[in-house]
Amino acid sequence: MRREFLIPAAKQPFFDGAVACPLQVCVLASGSRGNATYVSDGTTAVLIDAGLSGVEIQRRMAANGLSPNNLDAIIVSHEHTDHISGVGVLSRRFNLPVHINDATHQACETALGKLPAIFPFACGEPFAIGSLTLHPFSISHDAQDPAGFTLSGQGMKVGIATDLGVITEMIRVHLRGCHILVLEANHDSQMLMEGPYPWPLKQRIRGRCGHLSNEDTKNLVTDLFHDQLRHVVLAHLSEANNTPEKALETVTPALSNTRTRLHVATQTHGSQCLTIFSDLPSSALSDE
Ligand SMILES: [Zn+2]
Ligand SMILES: [Zn+2]
Repeated sequence: MRREFLIPAAKQPFFDGAVACPLQVCVLASGSRGNATYVSDGTTAVLIDAGLSGVEIQRRMAANGLSPNNLDAIIVSHEHTDHISGVGVLSRRFNLPVHINDATHQACETALGKLPAIFPFACGEPFAIGSLTLHPFSISHDAQDPAGFTLSGQGMKVGIATDLGVITEMIRVHLRGCHILVLEANHDSQMLMEGPYPWPLKQRIRGRCGHLSNEDTKNLVTDLFHDQLRHVVLAHLSEANNTPEKALETVTPALSNTRTRLHVATQTHGSQCLTIFSDLPSSALSDE
């Protein structure tokens, strides 16, 4: 068998000439004014959340050479406006099915409007969209049934967990073995406590149903590090209680002396598009 026939051409439509199978992750926006993350394995492409206007998501996708026409679905993590405001418009404009759990859907049914197709998922139960396998898991946040996700395709795994107040053992278990992690680094604890927010809001953010601090995220990254972890993207940074510099400064020691690259996704620019290729075993590239 000839080597080039082992990976079907249909699995690499976005990467002409590439030999290995790509996985692409692009945080289009992240923060309390809107979240959306694009994930594709070259065959199937999805958005996790669409919390900007439909027009703005289209604009940001285009700026990264992406098109909503290639999307297969939108997946909703929870009902807060910064995660759903573009879901209804995009799903209707591009005829995209929406994967959402029942409690979340009930909480935002009016805001979403009529959707072309709804596929309910349950936290803890994996499901497939095309060639991607998604595994939703429960996170602690002040929403009806909030979820984090892992997405697996082409032998690689992405973990996405933002909007969580506490890191449980179950979350750690789900996020182990990821090649790319998108993790919340919401606030610098000192900036939050000394900042302008009223005390009850500070308490909510620090609480079990709030958001992770930079220090929490550093400890999580330390725990989750493994040799195949290629990229960590710090996400959902507070614009009032954090800065990209502080988040990077706090989390960087967790990855010192490693080849893992650390990035920050911002509200205005998201992250750069990350593309990784699976390390195919030599047996998959030869019939000898
Ligand atoms: Zn949020
Ligand atoms: Zn939220």
